[in-house]
Amino acid sequence: MIDLKNNVGSNDLIEPAPGVLYIVGTPIGHLGDLSPRAQSLLTNVSAIACEDTRHSRKLISKFRTKALLISFHRHNAQSRLPTLLELLKTGKSLALISDAGLPGISDPGEELVSATREAGLQVICIPGPCAATTALVCSGLPSGRFCFEGFLPPKGSKRAKLLKEISQEERTTVLYESPHRLIQLLKELITICGAKRSLYVARELTKRHEQHIGPTIGIALKYFLENEPIGECTIILGGAEKKLNIEISEPELLKKMHALIDEGLSTNESARLISKEEGLSKRFLYRLLHQKDIS
Ligand code: SAM
Repeated sequence: MIDLKNNVGSNDLIEPAPGVLYIVGTPIGHLGDLSPRAQSLLTNVSAIACEDTRHSRKLISKFRTKALLISFHRHNAQSRLPTLLELLKTGKSLALISDAGLPGISDPGEELVSATREAGLQVICIPGPCAATTALVCSGLPSGRFCFEGFLPPKGSKRAKLLKEISQEERTTVLYESPHRLIQLLKELITICGAKRSLYVARELTKRHEQHIGPTIGIALKYFLENEPIGECTIILGGAEKKLNIEISEPELLKKMHALIDEGLSTNESARLISKEEGLSKRFLYRLLHQKDIS
């Protein structure tokens, strides 16, 4: 087992180590985004499992690798697992890459990682680009908490149910969509979230024609109705407004706040305490306190 802790920040990490599965991030457009560590690993590893051997051969043709390329995609993932595990068990090192980005994110990988772990073998990720996080951090929408939905089911009740859940989600949501379904998705989002909900479509990230179209669903839809969507797209949808706690009425809230004020708390402190207790915004509570016509 390699001791990663003692190697943090150093260049003398012995990679690839025998019997280790490496999950390697590859570019989502700009080839300069393949890290030196990823290059070195892909050059020296015993075998590389990839979605499309012809596509990946182009990426690794720039460096002299003797690695055996093995196809591993969503249609043969289960049947390929025993071969890949056998390689690791016999002391070979294995890298997993996908056509672009981080394996396991809307790409094959999850099943190989869990089978490798179940077999008691080590898994290490060599991080690299990921369209979801790249688009998110460029959007300016809240990124402290977010959720990733990837591709929605193309149609039917599962899609409708997920769209409804997404429309009520308070965190920023990240979606992947193919360009020929983008307008349909934006139309559905406008119906359930309203035209003014924050949204950015990140197009062709890291490529020559990179674009970020927003800042609302309405504006993005108008743009794509006038400009045919082409290239790869990641959608960043702003969260829903925090729901008001409808369990407690406004007069009851006022009574609670006045009770605290009578005990000697300031308006500010009383609004802060009640906002925490009831999950309501402080601004809403201030407004309530200053609204004279509520009894
Ligand atoms: N594993 C990849 C990752 O880490 O981002 C995602 C693979 S998924 C099969 C492909 C989808 O990711 C595309 O349909 C698109 O929604 C998004 N995507 C990939 N590259 C992109 C790019 N350069 N710009 C915008 N979105 C991209």
